[in-house]
Amino acid sequence: MQCQQELRGRIDKRFCSDSCRTQYHNEANRTRNRRFNYVHRQLKRNYAILEMFARKEQSQVHLRELWLLGFDTKKVTGVKLAKTGKITFELYDLTYRISDKNQIEFEKTSLTKSHLCSSNYSKKI
Ligand SMILES: [Zn+2]
Repeated sequence: MQCQQELRGRIDKRFCSDSCRTQYHNEANRTRNRRFNYVHRQLKRNYAILEMFARKEQSQVHLRELWLLGFDTKKVTGVKLAKTGKITFELYDLTYRISDKNQIEFEKTSLTKSHLCSSNYSKKI
């Protein structure tokens, strides 16, 4: 199935060697993963962009600024709809809202817990 070499041995044999079998499966996995990799890459890019602003302790940033950096608002890891009608977007451990004026508003709880205070937290221990 990999190299077209004539097979000898068992009737159900599909590969001439271990290296041909490994090569075949690696190539199949690479093709299979290609569709996921695009989304994973964009999620990671989105996260890196948001985290950059979170580190600055900036609580708001205009959506335009994020778009210019390559942020894709369609790639999130979760969406929550509150009873108030407000939508919160999740990107791994970061959460944010988009205001009527297209401002991204970070949820301070997740930012402070997971990022901004992580160094302070380790000092306490
Ligand atoms: Zn082979």
